[in-house]
Amino acid sequence: MDFEFRDTPKLAKFRKEVRAWLDLHIPMDFEIPDNPHDILPGSTKYEFIRTARHKLGAKGWLAPTWPKKYGGGGLSVEEAYVIESEVAQRPWSHFGIGDYYTGFFDIFGPMLYALGTEEQKKRFLPPFLRGEVIGWTGESEPDCGSDLAAVKTTAIRDGDDYVVNGSKIWLGSQYDNADYIFLVAVTDPKAPRHRNIGLFLVPIGLPGISKVHVPWMRSMHTGAWQVFFENVRMPVEYLIGGHENAANGWRVVSSATRLPQIRFGFLIRDRNQEFVLAYCQETKRDGLPLSQDSDVREALAEVEIQLEIRRLFAIRQNWQAMTGSRLAGYEAAQSGVHGKVTAIKQAEAYSDILGPAALIKEPEWALFEGNLEYQHFAPVAHASAGTTQEISKMLMSRWVCRAGD
Ligand SMILES: Cc1cc2nc3c(=O)[nH]c(=O)nc-3n(C[C@H](O)[C@H](O)[C@H](O)COP(=O)(O)OP(=O)(O)OC[C@H]3O[C@@H](n4cnc5c(N)ncnc54)[C@H](O)[C@@H]3O)c2cc1C
Repeated sequence: MDFEFRDTPKLAKFRKEVRAWLDLHIPMDFEIPDNPHDILPGSTKYEFIRTARHKLGAKGWLAPTWPKKYGGGGLSVEEAYVIESEVAQRPWSHFGIGDYYTGFFDIFGPMLYALGTEEQKKRFLPPFLRGEVIGWTGESEPDCGSDLAAVKTTAIRDGDDYVVNGSKIWLGSQYDNADYIFLVAVTDPKAPRHRNIGLFLVPIGLPGISKVHVPWMRSMHTGAWQVFFENVRMPVEYLIGGHENAANGWRVVSSATRLPQIRFGFLIRDRNQEFVLAYCQETKRDGLPLSQDSDVREALAEVEIQLEIRRLFAIRQNWQAMTGSRLAGYEAAQSGVHGKVTAIKQAEAYSDILGPAALIKEPEWALFEGNLEYQHFAPVAHASAGTTQEISKMLMSRWVCRAGD
């Protein structure tokens, strides 16, 4: 069976249409003057990306496979792939023009879709799917990460409100602000573990919410926040799924729900690898192109092999999602661990090949506008994002040993 995405004549026509639209709205030659890795509100980069997201969202191309009635594009998976692969060619696309790491499309959007009442879906999904608002995922706490069922933040019903107390950490995206926090909180402290958790969409401006910046390796200025909730009164309408689901959140948090979102990220050629390959072909050392050096060739080939494995894992996952099949259950964890390890090894290979120029972002010395420096430290931060490698490996082991979840 051939799992590759290939353009049919109809898709090739659609690709032309997408390319023409993007040329008009997100031109190839748009240069962003400020640091590529810090997306601070008010900066040229921030405004460019948010505007691009609005435009894509209004067209239904930010969430192509989501239903039209909720603000998505109502398009096929193949059409979504065409859009994503074209957007990926645009400058800076890998820093957020698409749905890169806003937390919504991967995590809370699907939860809202699965558990939300029809009224909530009609009210809350469109602004997210059209790129008008951004949300941060509020799951982890200072004393709770892998074991999410151990959250201590509480949201206790009081009349027509829930009153929230506690703290969430590592919230953020490459955008330095958000409109909502997707909150996982204990709604009934006396109920047993796993049957005491509710999901909420919390408007970030409610009185009693404050935040402090937590510096991390991914970027120097933007990054993570710790958010504090102090007697925050939140109307019941923000409890996802209505009152009968007040303690039912764990079912959704932990389940592999059938969702309208398909991810293509790893199917698309890695931009840093493209750059380094071209650079090594064009740049001479001791009279010979770098690409003729046997050590360089070996390092580049090893990266290329791992990126191809990563792509094949992604094809398998998309095929599983598209056909609704579950081959075994360990595949997502396997793909996640492999992707994280590959990104770290890729950075090591680039610094071996290119030396200090791969480790800095100052424009006068850096290569590829500092993207290689970012490649060097971001994968270290990302190594435990979502879940740690130990936990992923444990999940795989359980599946392999047929011990269930
Ligand atoms: C870049 C980045 C972005 C993030 N973004 C968000 C976000 O937007 N929202 C959010 O809520 N959270 C976010 N997180 C937090 C992330 O979800 C947690 O870091 C992750 O779940 C791990 O939790 P922890 O850091 O508390 O580590 P812990 O769970 O405390 O784990 C510490 C160590 O113990 C190991 N360990 C834990 N339990 C077991 C076990 N049962 N068996 C074997 N080993 C175990 C782990 O593998 C790890 O090595 C982000 C993290 C990163 C790095």
